[in-house]
Amino acid sequence: MARTETAPTATHCPYCSLQCGMNLRPAVGGAVAEVLERPDFPVNRGALCGKGRTAPAVLSSRVRLTGPLVRNPASGELEPAGWDEALARIADQLVRARTAHGPDAVGVFGGGGLTNEKAYALGKFARVVLSTSQIDYNGRFCMSSAAAAHQRAFGLDRGLPFPLEDIARTGCVILVGSNLAETMPPALRYLTELKENGGRLIVIDPRRTRTAEQADLHLAPRPGTDLALALGMLHLIVAQGRVDEEFVRERTSGWDEARAGSMAHWPELVERLTGVPVPQLREAVEMFCAAENAMVLTARGPEQQSKGTDTVGAWINLCLATGRAGRPLSGYGCLTGQGNGQGGREHGQKADQLPGYRKLTDPAARRHVAQVWGVDPDSLPGPGRSAYELLDALGTDVRALLVMGSNPVVSAPHAAHVEGRLRSLDFLAVADVVLSETAAMADVVLPVTQWAEETGTTTNLEGRVLLRQRAVTAPEGVRTDLEVLNGLAALLGHGKGFPADPEEVFDELRRASAGGPADYAGITYARIAAEDGVFWPCPDEEHAGTPRLFLDRFATDDGRARFVPVTHRPAAEETDREYPVVLTTGRVVAQYQSGAQTRRVDELNAAAPGPFVELHPRLAERIGVAEGDPVAVTSRRGRAVAPARITRAIRQDTVFMPFHWAGEGRANTLTNPALDPVSRMPEFKVCAVRVEAAGG
Ligand code: SF4
Repeated sequence: MARTETAPTATHCPYCSLQCGMNLRPAVGGAVAEVLERPDFPVNRGALCGKGRTAPAVLSSRVRLTGPLVRNPASGELEPAGWDEALARIADQLVRARTAHGPDAVGVFGGGGLTNEKAYALGKFARVVLSTSQIDYNGRFCMSSAAAAHQRAFGLDRGLPFPLEDIARTGCVILVGSNLAETMPPALRYLTELKENGGRLIVIDPRRTRTAEQADLHLAPRPGTDLALALGMLHLIVAQGRVDEEFVRERTSGWDEARAGSMAHWPELVERLTGVPVPQLREAVEMFCAAENAMVLTARGPEQQSKGTDTVGAWINLCLATGRAGRPLSGYGCLTGQGNGQGGREHGQKADQLPGYRKLTDPAARRHVAQVWGVDPDSLPGPGRSAYELLDALGTDVRALLVMGSNPVVSAPHAAHVEGRLRSLDFLAVADVVLSETAAMADVVLPVTQWAEETGTTTNLEGRVLLRQRAVTAPEGVRTDLEVLNGLAALLGHGKGFPADPEEVFDELRRASAGGPADYAGITYARIAAEDGVFWPCPDEEHAGTPRLFLDRFATDDGRARFVPVTHRPAAEETDREYPVVLTTGRVVAQYQSGAQTRRVDELNAAAPGPFVELHPRLAERIGVAEGDPVAVTSRRGRAVAPARITRAIRQDTVFMPFHWAGEGRANTLTNPALDPVSRMPEFKVCAVRVEAAGG
C-alpha cells in the first residue's frame, strides 16, 4: 500500500537502550507529530514512558537549530552562516591543526545515541580522513566496565546474552545498581511477570528506589562496596557447598584463584565493608541458590566505579560458580543505558576498536577492515585515548575537536575542568539538534536532523538490531550527520567512501563486520523491518540471528568462561573529616542523560524541573535544612547547590543528585574522574562530599 502523507511509520524511541517500538504519525496542519502505540513490537508491547511519548516535541521545538552558526572572531558571537561557509571553516581548521601539530592534534568525540551507520562512518572518518587515533565517545561513561568484564569472562560483549522475555521466566533475579522504574519503565513489566510466575527479585541499591520497593529483598550497601557484597555471597556459596562443581569443571577455567579471593571475604567482614547485615547476605544467597534458574543484571551502579570491571567480574563469578551462565533462563547481563549504547560500542567510534567489535591492535582485523575501506592497513592509526583522557588532553596536544551527538559540558565527570579544557582548544565544532551547553562553546555549530527525520539502525540492550525509519520531513536548513561527514570528507580530499545514504553505509558496515565478533553480515534493512529486529551475530542472510548466546560454548578460545580473581578495594576517594558524606549520581524518569533534548520538552520539565539533593532526614536535621531548602554539596573539585529532597529511602551517610542539568546544580561539577584501569570508566557513582545548608 502506498504511504500517504499522514500514514504512521513504525519506528523507535530516540532515547534509551530499550528502543521501544512506536508508530509515528507526521504532523498535520502545524500540529506536532503524534506518537501511537505499537503493541506488536515485542520489547515494550506498546508501553512507553513520558520521554518516548513526548519525543516529537523536540522535532518542532522553537529552540532547535535550523541553520549553521559560525563564531565571528571580531565580536566573539555565534552568527548564522551558510553550510558551505561552515563546512569550509571546519575543514580549514582541522587541516591547520594537523599541519601544525600532526594528525593526533585533531580529536573526535562521538555519542552512544548515534545510529550504527553514524558511529561506523565517524570511526572511518577519523581514521581514514583525519588519520587520527584520538577518537572516543560518551558511551565510555555508560557501560564500558560491563563491556570489559564481558570480554574478560565470556570473550564477547553483548549487554544481554538473552532476550528480555527470559527475565520473566527465570527463578530469581539479582538486580544490581539498576533503577528500571526511572530509567526504562516499560521494562519493569518483566520483573512484574517474574514475580507473577513465582520468581524472586533481589535489588541491590543504596537507595530504596521505586524499583527496590518491588523486591522480595532489598540490600542497601554503602556506595562503592558492591564488589565486597558479591564476594561475600560467593564466600557463603562455597562454605555452604552450593558450587555447581560439574558446570565449573566442564565449562569454566580459573575457579581456584577466584575461589581463593572469595574466601578472604567472610560475612562479618563484608558486613563491616558494605553495611549489609549478615542475615540479609545469607537470605540473598538462599534465594539465589534455591531457584533452579537465576540471573544477575547490573547497570551503572556497580559499573561506574574506578573498580567497575572487577565489580562486574565478581557478579559474573557468582553466576559461573553456581552454573547460572550459558544455560537457558540463566546468566549475567548488563542493562545498557544509551539508545544505541550497544551498537555504538561495536562499530569503531571507540578508541581501541574497528567495526564488528574488532580490535585495532589485531593485524588480521586491520587487514580486513582496510580492505573494505580500500586503504593500506599500515595507514590506520593505533588506539587512542579514552573519553575522559581525551577531554583532559584538549588544548594540550589535542588542538581541534569535532563533537557529534554528545554534550560533555554536562555529562563528563569533573565537568568544570572539562569546560576549561574545551575553552582552551584552538577550534571546536559541534553537530547537534539544539544549542547544547557544549555547542554554545563551539566555533562552528552544525544543525542536524533528529531520529524521526532520518533512517538508521540501532542495536538495543538485547543485541537486537532495529530499524528507525524516517517518519517526518526535516526542516529546511538541517542536514543528517552522514551528510555532514560526506561534505567534510569531500572537502578534505575524500570525495568517495562516505556516502550519505544510510542503507549504503549499513551495507558497507555489514561487510566490515563480517567474520568479527559482532557480525552483522546477514542483517539487512528489509529483514529488520520484516522480523522486528535481528539479533547479532548473524553471519549470512540465511542465518536466523542469535537471540541466546553461549548455550553451547563461550566465545573464548577454548570455549570456557573465565573466572577472574577479584578482591575488594576502596573507592578512589573515601570519606574523611572534611568530606564526610558519599555522593552518588543517577537519573530521573522525566529527563534523559545531559538533558539536551528532554530539557526542551514542557511536559518533562513540569515533571522534573531541575536538580535536587536527596538526603536522609537525620542528615538534613544535622545540617539544618528543611524540604526545598538550598543545599550546598562540595567535593574536592567544586561546589553545586540544589534544593533538598528529604527521604528515608536513602542511607544516612549518602546523598544523591541527578546529573541532567547544567549550571549551579550540575552534579558532574562534583564527580571524580578517577578511572577504572581496564575500562577507563570514571567513578561517577562514588565521591566524598561535604553537605551544608546554602541559605544565606
Ligand atoms: Fe522506551 Fe526508553 Fe524511550 Fe522510555 S526512553 S519510551 S523506556 S526507549
